[in-house]
Amino acid sequence: MAKVRLENIKRKFNNVTAIENITFEIPDGQFWVLVGPSGCGKSTILRTIAGLETATSGNLYIGDLLVNNVPARQRDVAMVFQNYALYPHMSVAQNIAFGLQMRKVDSKVIQQRVETVARSLALEHLLERKPKQLSGGQQQRVALGRAIAREAQVFLLDEPLSNLDAQLRDDTRAELKQLHHNLGITTIYVTHDQVEAMTLADRIVILNQGRIQQIGEPQSVYAKPANRMVATFLGNPPMNILPAKYKNGNFLVESQVISCPMRIRDVLRLSEGQVVDLGIRPEDLFINESQNEEIAALTVEVKLVEPLGRETLIRAGLPSSSVQVNIQQAGVMRLHLGDRISLGLDLEQLFIFNSTTGDRLY
Ligand code: ATP
Repeated sequence: MAKVRLENIKRKFNNVTAIENITFEIPDGQFWVLVGPSGCGKSTILRTIAGLETATSGNLYIGDLLVNNVPARQRDVAMVFQNYALYPHMSVAQNIAFGLQMRKVDSKVIQQRVETVARSLALEHLLERKPKQLSGGQQQRVALGRAIAREAQVFLLDEPLSNLDAQLRDDTRAELKQLHHNLGITTIYVTHDQVEAMTLADRIVILNQGRIQQIGEPQSVYAKPANRMVATFLGNPPMNILPAKYKNGNFLVESQVISCPMRIRDVLRLSEGQVVDLGIRPEDLFINESQNEEIAALTVEVKLVEPLGRETLIRAGLPSSSVQVNIQQAGVMRLHLGDRISLGLDLEQLFIFNSTTGDRLY
């Protein structure tokens, strides 16, 4: 195991800056997830740690060793790619053993280690098969096995579950978590899937356009997103963003009035006419059936009702924007498309963002 430290890492491809100002330290044995939309620089960071890319500037340490100029094969990291990159002509056992054979490890030791790894990943009965005789999930476990067998100090996983179907993906995700718990190897995991990020990570690093937006424990980033990008990236369906104008202690949302809670007024001291973005998660909206006027609510038109069993998703429209609502009950089926309903907002859960920079104000 080893800690991994990135100091001001930057990578430019000709005139495109893929990543910039990347600084963080992963303590020994932790599981960190790099997450963000396509093209945000996740893989570039991972490949730089692996030694498959060279940083344009900045320093990279594995353990206490500065590895900027250490070639990939001497870095003692094991990488698992999205496509598993197994050797098709080799059996499962040979695939797992390959890295050890290259390092001229004693053949008895190799055999023992292959058996131990195969047992921990439930691959014992598949050792003689070739990769094409395995399911996607089994191939994925072999790729992990090959990484584990090498007993590297750091695991680097690049979207390792993205080729699996939904059920297998959930199962393998849980296995990965268990495996990390058992092995305790420092792991850096890249995904654009926020459920994987939330469930696996000790810490998540949210990236956008090559820069770190926020680093933190998944729950605390979810509860206190640094900005609008983070807020809308984590959560499914995503947080609703409603442009609003502050006036006389209220927010005007497309000419409808929502009163601004006192605690927010006290802290923010918004100026008359100031434009902000209100943020409210779909689960913090509810149908104001009693039409209670004391409740902060917006009148919206129902556009779509999606029953999902235990919960129901509703898409609703204001004249020029739309909101998504997640009601934690089955069958809000009395609703019909085109109905106008009063949608209550749980103001305790309201977020406020600077409409220009996107920074969270509250
Ligand atoms: P995805 O989720 O789609 O895999 P990512 O977050 O992993 O994306 P990267 O692959 O790290 O993103 O790419 C970051 C940026 O760097 C992108 O704009 C990409 O086009 C650019 N980039 C990556 N590799 C190269 C390269 N070899 N040459 C030029 N540009 C590159």
